[in-house]
Amino acid sequence: MRVCFVCPEKGNFGLLAFPKDEEEKQRWCDSLGIDIQDVKKSSSVCHKHFLKSQVEVVKCGSSSKIRLVKGNCNAEDQTVKTMSVLE
Ligand SMILES: [Zn+2]
Repeated sequence: MRVCFVCPEKGNFGLLAFPKDEEEKQRWCDSLGIDIQDVKKSSSVCHKHFLKSQVEVVKCGSSSKIRLVKGNCNAEDQTVKTMSVLE
């Protein structure tokens, strides 16, 4: 089972994949305090690194998963432009 890239959390509703867009990905890395070089294609982070207002639990097919509020059902197709890390 995949775990969060940043903490040992497995994520009750799944994990959020890093954006494909390099600039966006860099922004996440800055926020998370990690090196973009360390991020692999399969790397994902859990909801704890986002503000509550930025993520929501949605029905996606037969299961529930988290997504960014401005994204869609597919976590790999996020369109959110900002990201904050919970203290
Ligand atoms: Zn985490």
